[in-house]
Amino acid sequence: MWDILIIGGGPAGYSAAMTAARRKKSVALVSLPIEESAIYPSHRVENYPGLPGISGRELLERMREQTRSLGVELIEGRATAAMDMGKSFGVAIGSDFTEGKALILCTGTDRAGPIAGEREFLGRGVSYCVTCDGMFYRGKTVAVLGFTKDAETEAQLLRDMGCTVKLFTKKGSYAITGESRAEGVSFNGETTGCDGVFILRASSAGDSLLGGLAMSEGHIAVDRQQCTNLRGVFAAGDCTGEPYQLAKAAGEGNVAALSACRYLEEGA
Ligand SMILES: Cc1cc2nc3c(=O)[nH]c(=O)nc-3n(C[C@H](O)[C@H](O)[C@H](O)COP(=O)(O)OP(=O)(O)OC[C@H]3O[C@@H](n4cnc5c(N)ncnc54)[C@H](O)[C@@H]3O)c2cc1C
Repeated sequence: MWDILIIGGGPAGYSAAMTAARRKKSVALVSLPIEESAIYPSHRVENYPGLPGISGRELLERMREQTRSLGVELIEGRATAAMDMGKSFGVAIGSDFTEGKALILCTGTDRAGPIAGEREFLGRGVSYCVTCDGMFYRGKTVAVLGFTKDAETEAQLLRDMGCTVKLFTKKGSYAITGESRAEGVSFNGETTGCDGVFILRASSAGDSLLGGLAMSEGHIAVDRQQCTNLRGVFAAGDCTGEPYQLAKAAGEGNVAALSACRYLEEGA
């Protein structure tokens, strides 16, 4: 059991992990690869204090190595669900599971927002987790809207489970169609029938990961100490709202970690 579990390896998550590790907490950080962070494609960052002109990739590589050198366990994978287990929080990573006494969400944001029909059919044919729900579609046709680098791997996993897969990776205008449950995907006006839809994004919406988490206009609602409405759960970075900026993400990560440490030291 970790003292602090962090989901999301961007500037907010690395900053939180470094602060918590320096406060002598055992820390694990679960994340998709750094290529999925919003800042990764940026060739030049000019406004991060002390590092003018650094690329997003180099910044992330440096943060990752600095975090690793402090003894933080870096777990590469997609967190598919987080759950409150009373005195701890459990996080599912594919078919693996890990537990922490406090949880910090640093999942970034999906600037495109939800796809039409996504919220409506969530749990009724729409899923974010191949490992959790793939078996329900054995012998059936599923659409995978795969906007991350692991899309082909996840699609293959569904094929191995016996599904027929229609894989969509291009950017464009998507909608999920159906009556009482998802029955098709419309892409740029052309509809493909299916029995289920898996949506794979770099960033998970907070309330799709953890039930009961209060949101505000699509972001995780936090106070100035980065506390969410759930005891023991903190959030930092783009997932808490604008401005979407590196310095804000790193600063909030620091505050979230200090709040999580205080929570643990006060007896959880
Ligand atoms: C093209 C571009 C250029 C930018 N340039 C600048 C700039 O010059 N200066 C500036 O200040 N800001 C810039 N920004 C904004 C900046 O990138 C963000 O504010 C910053 O990256 C936010 O950090 P974060 O840690 O909150 O989220 P992110 O950096 O997005 O990191 C979140 C990480 O968590 C992972 N994750 C999410 N959900 C899960 C899950 N369920 N399981 C596992 N992993 C998960 C994601 O895949 C990602 O790796 C730019 C943004 C873009 C898109």
